[in-house]
Amino acid sequence: MAYDVLVLGAGIIGCSVAYHLAQMGRLRVCVLERASQIGAGSTGKATGGFRCQYSTPINVRLSLMAREKLLRFQEETGVDPEYRPYGYLFVASTEAQMQTLREAIAAQREAGLTESREVSVAEIEALNPALYTGDLIGGTFCPLDGFTRPMKILQGYYEAAQRLGVEFRFGVGEAQVWREGDRARGAILANGERIEAGAVVNAAGAWAGVVAQQAGVSLPVQPLKRQVGITRPFSELPETMPMSVDVNDGFHLRVRDGRVLLLYPHALRHEHTFETDFEREWLDAMRERAHYRVPCLRNAEMDIENSWAGLYEMSPDKHAILGEAPELRGFYLVNGSSGHGVMHAPALGELLTRLILGMELPFDIAPLRPTRFAEGMLNRDTGVL
Ligand SMILES: Cc1cc2nc3c(=O)[nH]c(=O)nc-3n(C[C@H](O)[C@H](O)[C@H](O)COP(=O)(O)OP(=O)(O)OC[C@H]3O[C@@H](n4cnc5c(N)ncnc54)[C@H](O)[C@@H]3O)c2cc1C
Repeated sequence: MAYDVLVLGAGIIGCSVAYHLAQMGRLRVCVLERASQIGAGSTGKATGGFRCQYSTPINVRLSLMAREKLLRFQEETGVDPEYRPYGYLFVASTEAQMQTLREAIAAQREAGLTESREVSVAEIEALNPALYTGDLIGGTFCPLDGFTRPMKILQGYYEAAQRLGVEFRFGVGEAQVWREGDRARGAILANGERIEAGAVVNAAGAWAGVVAQQAGVSLPVQPLKRQVGITRPFSELPETMPMSVDVNDGFHLRVRDGRVLLLYPHALRHEHTFETDFEREWLDAMRERAHYRVPCLRNAEMDIENSWAGLYEMSPDKHAILGEAPELRGFYLVNGSSGHGVMHAPALGELLTRLILGMELPFDIAPLRPTRFAEGMLNRDTGVL
């Protein structure tokens, strides 16, 4: 057999998995990517937010594990992931929203995160003086949260994996799982070439559901279009501003390289699509929210040509799906991160490797098991993003 494991997809998840398999298991790994280079899917579209503030213990544990690994990342791979803990600031206008944030803090404590905290309006004003706070009643803040560079993390795993002997084949077209009975035998490339392996990993991001379906496996992962508006260079907001998230509607913003990145998860004409055309009409609704919550943005000019759209990879409960597919032995799923795949990639790559190698796991990953949908045991996500 040529390879121990084939990984379908060279995004941040596929490269993390490939690296960990080679590093921890000394396995012979080959990554198959339809595009001509790494990061052609969602990874290259991500804005680099990193947070531990989630509403379920499992997501908090993934973030804490990922953070530990990011702190060692440069030493391990040679590339600086540029983790900058400037914080995430969630702001709320109603008691019901505050209650949701408090419940999230309880879940965070359960998972061992002690640094997140409730903040008053006065503290919000100190943490981000640019916010309009007239309608706010409070919020939460965590100083471990902040930013990373998605393409740096991807590059780090890609280069380190190559040094460990992982092979990458780009431009292979839509690779399909080669199935024999109830076992994955390898992959079939678009040109008909068959590559044999002991196991196959689905790391196809928003397209993972399609890859699974072709293999006769049911995987509820759907694409969800998300847009990012970017301003021209704007000096009124500092680079150190925390990611500021309005719980009312999920509007959030950060500063990167002197420009403001604005996200508003509403007002798109087509959300459930694989298309990533940028919808200009969305800018009006987004700008209205931005000008309300951050009045100084009235002075900012949008750089429409460089604004973009990309795809989240949604699972029904907005949590990752991790483990062997129940219907197909040797076919492993690491999918459905639902817009959190960059920040969780370091953890998910190691956890899947531990599963494949039969190694001990640092915590219970049962909440991520692929069978939970059929069992009706979905995670309860109250998070706004
Ligand atoms: C606008 C936006 C902002 C985001 N911001 C954040 C953020 O702040 N923080 C965060 O953690 N996450 C963020 N995300 C989510 C993040 O980008 C994804 O969760 C993450 O990139 C998923 O990584 P992946 O490797 O699974 O998928 P991808 O990066 O999409 O990689 C999948 C790869 O599989 C390839 N592929 C697909 N099908 C096949 C096939 N049949 N054969 C071969 N190759 C195939 C694709 O070409 C692609 O390269 C954001 C996403 C968007 C769109």
